[in-house]
Amino acid sequence: MINFQISIAYLKGVGPARAQLLGKELGIFTYADLANFFPHRYIDRTKFYQIKELQNNSAEVQLVGKITSMRSVKQKKGSRLVASFMDASGSMELVWFRGAKWIREHMKLNVPYVIFGKVNYYNGNYTMPHPEMELLSDYKKGFKAAMQPVYRSTELLSIKGVSNRVMQKLMQNLFQECKGKFAETLSEKLMVSNGLIPKNKAMFNIHFPQNQELLSQAEYRLKFEELFFIQLQLIVKNLTNKKKNKGFVFEKVGDYFLEFYNKFLPFDLTGAQKKVLKEIRRDLNTGAQMNRLLQGDVGSGKTIVAVLSMLIAADNDYQSALIAPTEILASQHFNAVRELLQDMEIGVRLLTGSSSKAQRKVIHEELENGTLHIIIGTHAIFEDKVKFANLGLAIIDEQHRFGVAQRAKMWMKNELPPHILVMTATPIPRTLAMSVYGDLDISVIDELPPGRKSIRTLHKYDSNRLSVFRFIKEEVARGRQIYIVYPLIQESEQLDYKDLMDGYESISRAFPLPDYRISIVHGKMKSADKEYEMQRFVEGQTQIMVATTVIEVGVNVPNASVMIIESAERFGLSQLHQLRGRVGRGADQSYCILLSSVKLTKEAKTRLQTMVETNDGFKIAEVDLKLRGPGDLMGTQQSGVLNLRIADIVHDSKVLYKARKAARDIAGSEMGHLDPDHRVVWSTYEQIVRDGSIWMNIS
Ligand code: ADP
Ligand code: MG
Repeated sequence: MINFQISIAYLKGVGPARAQLLGKELGIFTYADLANFFPHRYIDRTKFYQIKELQNNSAEVQLVGKITSMRSVKQKKGSRLVASFMDASGSMELVWFRGAKWIREHMKLNVPYVIFGKVNYYNGNYTMPHPEMELLSDYKKGFKAAMQPVYRSTELLSIKGVSNRVMQKLMQNLFQECKGKFAETLSEKLMVSNGLIPKNKAMFNIHFPQNQELLSQAEYRLKFEELFFIQLQLIVKNLTNKKKNKGFVFEKVGDYFLEFYNKFLPFDLTGAQKKVLKEIRRDLNTGAQMNRLLQGDVGSGKTIVAVLSMLIAADNDYQSALIAPTEILASQHFNAVRELLQDMEIGVRLLTGSSSKAQRKVIHEELENGTLHIIIGTHAIFEDKVKFANLGLAIIDEQHRFGVAQRAKMWMKNELPPHILVMTATPIPRTLAMSVYGDLDISVIDELPPGRKSIRTLHKYDSNRLSVFRFIKEEVARGRQIYIVYPLIQESEQLDYKDLMDGYESISRAFPLPDYRISIVHGKMKSADKEYEMQRFVEGQTQIMVATTVIEVGVNVPNASVMIIESAERFGLSQLHQLRGRVGRGADQSYCILLSSVKLTKEAKTRLQTMVETNDGFKIAEVDLKLRGPGDLMGTQQSGVLNLRIADIVHDSKVLYKARKAARDIAGSEMGHLDPDHRVVWSTYEQIVRDGSIWMNIS
């Protein structure tokens, strides 16, 4: 068996100069890199056409025939080379605008060639510019790749003559040298139960597909393999963490929980809330630390799940912390929780940056001596002076605003880390969550409380602004409050501020004092001023809130029923959805109005259309994933997990689910570890952990 880690320079047809070029342009340094450089598309050359069958369309076709003559034709600049090409059915022309000298020297007359390319129809003649050509005799000798692979290339590679043809040739040399032997990475059982072809056959057919069906099988096998080993790593990590990260055992559901549940729960829990609560309760008494991500669209009722979880902690004599990203959100949580628990004998306090010294002193004492059960606040809770008697559960709202470091800091204060529940209202498509957070446990509240009126979303062009203003006046007359949001995008910050201020002015003119009072909040304001303006709106002192996207996260103003989004075409889908989630929290019909210019890109149209069509955050997230791709959606830090070579989590979700299931079956069962058949899976796993990628280790 050959060593796939040797330099590509040693491969026949490469040499030092080309090796350097391949490394620089395509990241191909070794035999392994080349073998795993998969084509990005294929041209079907399973059929030979006759000249008389040619059509005037854009397909690439192949023919067999002979060049009968060549001539130079003068044109404005230089000349072009024209060859007459014939088969039994007729004749056509081949044309070269460059490289005439080389063609004249190398092309043989009256010898059969296989030619391939796009055909143009011109002056009653078919012509093929710059055809790919191969002697029929050579064609017959080579690997018969009926489906033509096309490899990604670069300008420099083309200039230096490393054409697709050359790439194919190099691939042939590689396969000849290694006799097409690639080490199997999957067990027989896995291949049988998932309908996978062996590695060797897959590698051959991905580069030299014999027909459409074998190509599909090869792609499927390699995609499965890629996704399987990523999932295996995530699942093993999850299981190891559970073994390693011991956690407090919350054995019982006691008086706090039961009293609240039976006497004070203001509504029946939805099925989804019950399911999630069960998952959390199970986590809390396994003896392992809980690390759970709770996803639930805006308004799906995550707060009550948090409260019930904190009561279980209290039942087991542990303290809980609920942490929000801003002071406003922390105090909203505090008010909501205090109201829910008002008739219960349980301590709840709020700690934020604005808490007074005296308040802090009391809170610190109560946390340290264990009399305070529930603390709600901002990251002020992480301050070093805060010591918990026994912090058992930390709930973090809106994970996007919190660094992992901050999370880690919390459990430094304990002998054991607290259980962690991260709540997020940003729906992540299931396939993406699996790939990025596959090592966490994930719960999803996928059902809204009953009787919720869905928000009506309308898309209007700027020219309809006056009618929108009339509508605002009607709603304000009915006692409702309105948000008007402007985009703020870093690259055009100055312009955006100008838009915001111009907008504010024109809104102030359209909605004058004393009938209308307007708040404005934007990122350039001091945070105390922002909080003050927000508070005025929360308390209903102002009816209109003009803002940049700072209001994005979590504020709850049930009386606000209209969300106007200016230049909506400039917002991303998830942002639009988050913004819309600010309304629809009260009993009234709520509206979201998307204002845009008439000129829209195709993508912008899709975004606005999606918003108008659905309120379902997960559906919206799926569209977003399709439009932007996984890297953009998750930011760069996760690109490692998502840097897939052949699979694609948007299009290959079915393969992903299968691969995850297979990985879970093997990692989670004793047989999965002991069965000698699976040994190859685990040795591959070890290599991947060592080398960082499945595509390094094929020998
Ligand atoms: P979010 O998931 O956005 O944090 P909240 O927890 O703030 O949602 O809940 C939104 C609203 O729905 C609150 O007013 C809450 O009281 C109400 N709610 C939550 N669960 C239910 C339920 N099962 N039945 C009825 N109303 C509910
Ligand atoms: Mg919430």
